[in-house]
This record gives sequence, C-alpha cells and structure tokens, in this order.
Amino acid sequence: MTKHVKEVLELLDREYGLFTEPTLDYTQPHELLIATILSAQCTDARVNIVTRDLFKKYKDVVSFAEADLSELEDDIRTCGFYHAKAVHIIECCKRLHEFYNDTVPSSIEDLTSLSGVGRKTANVVRTHIFNIPSIVVDTHVKRISNKLGLTKETEPVKIEFDLMKKLPEDHWSAINLQLITLGRTICTSRNPKCEECFLKDVCPSGKKTLRSKK
Ligand code: SF4
Repeated sequence: MTKHVKEVLELLDREYGLFTEPTLDYTQPHELLIATILSAQCTDARVNIVTRDLFKKYKDVVSFAEADLSELEDDIRTCGFYHAKAVHIIECCKRLHEFYNDTVPSSIEDLTSLSGVGRKTANVVRTHIFNIPSIVVDTHVKRISNKLGLTKETEPVKIEFDLMKKLPEDHWSAINLQLITLGRTICTSRNPKCEECFLKDVCPSGKKTLRSKK
C-alpha cells in the first residue's frame, strides 16, 4: 500500500469507520438481489418503500419467477425503468429456480449469468450475503476514487481490479459506503465542498481546486 493510499484510508476510517451495513432492506438473499436490480437509477430510500410491499406480495423466488409481467411492472413502477427491471427480475428468478435450487449463488460467474446482474450487483450480494470482500464500483466510487488519486482508470471493471490491487482486503467492502457517504454529503458531483473536506490535504483534485481559487 502506498503512503498516499494509507493516508486517504486513515482519514476515511476516522470519519466514517469501517462499516459495511447495506442501505437496502431485505431479509432473504434473493430479496437483496432484487432490491439491487431495482436500485439502478433510483434512490435506495425509494427502493425500500417499494420493496416493503413487494416482498410481502412475492414471498419467494418462485413467486417472482411466476409473476405476471404487467402486474410486476405496476408493483415496481415508481423505481423507474420498470419494464426492463420487471423482465430482469422474472428472468433472474426463473434461472435461480431452474439452476440454483431457489438459492442465490456466490461466485461472480454464476451471479453475472443472471438477468440484470452485472459486477456491481454481484459484488453487493457477495459483500452482504456471503461476507466475501468485494469492491462495488458505483457512480460515487468511480468519480471520487479518481479525484482522490486512488486510481487513474475510468471504466468500472478496471477501477474495481485496480482498487483490489491497491487497497488492503479489509477495506474492499467498506470503501463503497465510505465514498457514497462522502459523495452524498461533501464531494457532491455538482459542487464538491473542498474547503471543508477532511480529505483536502491529501486529495489531488481538491488541492488543485483550492489552488485555483487563491
Ligand atoms: S477535497 Fe474536494 S475533490 Fe477531494 S474528496 Fe474532498 S470534496 Fe472531493
């Protein structure tokens, strides 16, 4: 680990801790999978409102696999992209039923073979269901890991592999929630508040911004 990465991680840990609690509500593994599919282009808060009733109505993998498409679309409409998401959920659960005995698999290969499941969703499931250290590269991680100089890569998969090389494994799962929290509060995409950011002394992008304002 480089001195720079160590300094960044120490400041993130001091500010946010090494927490890895999911922000999506679920009780069964397939529910986290479905909630994560629903969370694309949607807030976790909205998804949690929708899944409160959804998971009461569709109680298991088979219920989702056998769901009526237009009815499911109505059930998840407020999450946006409801047609594509409903198709993915039904197809995903059909495969879980046919090939995985109604359980959620743990390998990246098996997870990404499911409809609507990319590496990001697969890594969410691996982190929270199986406790396997994984780096979830969402929009916040993509943007802020570049600003902080943790990676120069710009594609999510390349960022994931680069961060896996540079960060100690015990930070893989936490870095996502740390950067999401930072991205929602201080390092927002429209107006990063570099002056008040606890990372301003170690952040290359922040230093540049603050220099240009002098
Ligand atoms: S110093 Fe600025 S650019 Fe760097 S993480 Fe903080 S808010 Fe973002």
